[in-house]
Amino acid sequence: MAQRNDGFTLWLTGLSGAGKTTIALELEQRLLAIGQRIERLDGDTVREGLTRDLGFSKEDRDKNIERVTFVAKLLSRNGVGVVCSFISPYRDARDKARRETTNFIEVFVDTPLEVCIERDVKGLYQKALAGELKQFTGIDDPYEAPEQPELVIRTAGETVQESVDHILAYLERRELIPTATAVTI
Ligand code: ADP
Repeated sequence: MAQRNDGFTLWLTGLSGAGKTTIALELEQRLLAIGQRIERLDGDTVREGLTRDLGFSKEDRDKNIERVTFVAKLLSRNGVGVVCSFISPYRDARDKARRETTNFIEVFVDTPLEVCIERDVKGLYQKALAGELKQFTGIDDPYEAPEQPELVIRTAGETVQESVDHILAYLERRELIPTATAVTI
């Protein structure tokens, strides 16, 4: 019989283009493959629905994270593993998520700004650097890096697979998912 693990809130924070969504998608696939109950909350999709009324001022960014925290709280306390991928630039808002959710794990996707600009996945850095896009994190808006994250992922020097492996290994160590050995027998 499948073992019922505790829920958790795995929170990926970092600059735009750092790799949060890419890691979250791969992580979701890997967790679904071992039969975990998973929900993924992503900045871009949440902003198209739950928080579409909000902009990018500090107040609105805080509200965005507050609402996501509420959803993650309900899910994680009911045994679901919640994978959250949000720039979430403010330390206070992330600390609040830590206090309110079950088994909060802060993952700092630590990709240097220069690398994110180089990747420019959505072409947004180009616009921000040209002054066409205001309040862009890392350019003309702050990013407060985590001080004591549970995990730091340095995507610049590794593949997506390797980044995700680090996170899975951590979840195993915390016994929030079954160990790899247990999965293969
Ligand atoms: P974010 O969600 O943080 O804005 P994205 O996931 O949309 O960032 O984009 C990250 C980009 O970096 C993707 O094009 C991805 O293929 C690339 N990338 C390279 N190495 C990694 C890695 N180790 N982990 C995650 N993304 C990586």
